[in-house]
Amino acid sequence: MGMDSRNEMEKSMLSAEAQQKFDELVALLAEERYGPDGPPIDTTFAEIETFGHQAGRMLGRSLDAHLAQQHGEQFQEASCPTCGASGESDAGKNKTRPLQTQDGKIALGEPAFHCPRCNRDFFPSAHGTCD
Ligand SMILES: [Zn+2]
Repeated sequence: MGMDSRNEMEKSMLSAEAQQKFDELVALLAEERYGPDGPPIDTTFAEIETFGHQAGRMLGRSLDAHLAQQHGEQFQEASCPTCGASGESDAGKNKTRPLQTQDGKIALGEPAFHCPRCNRDFFPSAHGTCD
């Protein structure tokens, strides 16, 4: 698959409204970086690409953190991994943990639960991690 068809496929993931907002965001970020007139004449493509990549990583990290937060909120109830008893949500013990993503580090939110039987805390959204 060529690069053009891959780019087209990625963009077709978005609704028409989202595509418009995406284009607006691109214009906003370009203006943030280079002002309303765009990059000055002596700007190299490498400089432009560096900024584009940086902005892409920033967007990637924000999406990862946002979706992980929403995903964590799906855990309204959870069973204790040790004894299987129903755990109690304990928002006061919610924590964040630094996570290395493909686009840099984010603070991943993890909702806490407490097992009254084992008297232990656990984090059902923490895939494959121990407390
Ligand atoms: Zn337990």
